Amino acid sequence: MVSRVIPVDPFDLVIFGGTGDLARRKILPGLFRRFRSGQMPDGARIIAAARSELDRAGYQQMISDAIQEFGGAEKDDTEAVAKFLEVLDYTPIDAKGEGGWKALSKMVRKDVIQAFYFSVAPSLFGDLAQRLHDYKIANAESRIVVEKPFGRDLESAKELNKSLADHFDEKQIYRIDHYLGKETVQNLMAVRFGNVLFEPLWNNHYVDHIQITVAETVGVSGRGAYYDRSGAMRDMVQNHLMQLLCLIAMEPPSQFGADEVRDEKLKVIRALKGVEPHHIVRGQYDAGPDGPSYREDAENPRSFTESFIAMKCHIDNWRWAGVPFYMRTGKRMKARTSEIAVVFKDLGHSIFEGDEKRHRNILAIRLQPNEGIDLQVTIKEPGPGGMRLVDVPLDMTFAEALGAGEHEVTDAYERLIMDVIRGNQTLFMRGDEVEAAWAWTDPLINGWEARNDVPKLYDAGSSGPEDALMLLHREGRKWREIRG
Ligand code: NAP
Repeated sequence: MVSRVIPVDPFDLVIFGGTGDLARRKILPGLFRRFRSGQMPDGARIIAAARSELDRAGYQQMISDAIQEFGGAEKDDTEAVAKFLEVLDYTPIDAKGEGGWKALSKMVRKDVIQAFYFSVAPSLFGDLAQRLHDYKIANAESRIVVEKPFGRDLESAKELNKSLADHFDEKQIYRIDHYLGKETVQNLMAVRFGNVLFEPLWNNHYVDHIQITVAETVGVSGRGAYYDRSGAMRDMVQNHLMQLLCLIAMEPPSQFGADEVRDEKLKVIRALKGVEPHHIVRGQYDAGPDGPSYREDAENPRSFTESFIAMKCHIDNWRWAGVPFYMRTGKRMKARTSEIAVVFKDLGHSIFEGDEKRHRNILAIRLQPNEGIDLQVTIKEPGPGGMRLVDVPLDMTFAEALGAGEHEVTDAYERLIMDVIRGNQTLFMRGDEVEAAWAWTDPLINGWEARNDVPKLYDAGSSGPEDALMLLHREGRKWREIRG
């Protein structure tokens, strides 16, 4: 398959926190892949800035190592890596002080696209925005990229929004949710709005329920202290799962434009009802043969933070009235998988004698692994024995169906960074969306904190606590199996 390259104008991309984990693991290896596939213009420059007293050569060495480790660089890429390193520069800077800002000001060109990636703790966002303004480095066209977590509640999200809005217009701010950069997530919109088949069925007349699952096999070891202050609700549901839910549930936008799409997502969040306490199941993984318990990983023996959450939600609008949206996400689960499943209603009456099973069409959108789409349909079981029906998947794994090689299914980060350079905000969260998501999340968290809710233990390597299975079972439904 020939990939279509959309030309990009020359740019200066400044990465604050360029020595950090995210920069080394995701951002720079992603940029390297773009460079290798010829999708970076000649005039592109990447300037990393952090407190470490490195010179340019020292930083280039750091990134060369990172590309080897995380970038998918192959043996014959030596020349490409060397060329990519030439694009890189480094300057020491202190976000909280004045050191390094004049030097940065001299380095950043004024006549090209400027993007400033804040790959640092959110507590530094305000300082960076302020100094970019004070030192007249940024201009009215500059773009600011910020990472999650965007606040830990509505109040802190509002403060963060304000600290950016003091110096930058909303049109300049790109809040990354890397789930939105995934190929399949965009395909979800293509499937919904590019086919005549699905849209007529996409409502409470035909959809029985929707399941969103994001399961991870890793625990929180290594980031336990951070995670313990956050939990699955803040870390995953408020942002990633909420974004997926919005894309599944939103009305068709008038066009695929940034504000049109984001307006529709915002309406979904605002239409989300509060969730009854008995429709929320929180869990913590227990110790198992492969590792310690959540509380040991978090180094907090009395922790009440959830490493798993499942819930049943409702969207209070015409299209979705009465349709449950079940969401679940957790650590140390059976397999690493992210999937959205639209489970359609059964036919209600079968014309085939002896066929007592209630067959259901299911459209499953797999985000990982094996990004793809799978439509469960009912057919006649082949062979003799009369009209016996069987459910089979019509499976389309993108990499197979489209003949796409590894490089074609691009990583979410590289796609999103190039969207920043192109000035396309469609796949980024708007400030009001983030605030609306916190406005829905806050009362749920406050509710279980007030009740001193204790998370249920679940076995590491399982599908989560028994109560989460019951959330569907007691309504005659069943979670889809978590399969890697
Ligand atoms: P990290 O490894 O701790 O890196 C933080 C970076 O900030 C380092 O480059 C550090 O460099 C720099 N820094 C710290 N204080 C500074 C200051 N006063 N002035 C200038 N630079 C300063 O963190 P990270 O994991 O890369 O995460 C960065 C951001 O991305 C965070 O907001 C995080 O929540 C978010 N995020 C990370 C991931 C991930 O996978 N890592 C995923 C999603 C979101 P020096 O020590 O050299 O100054």
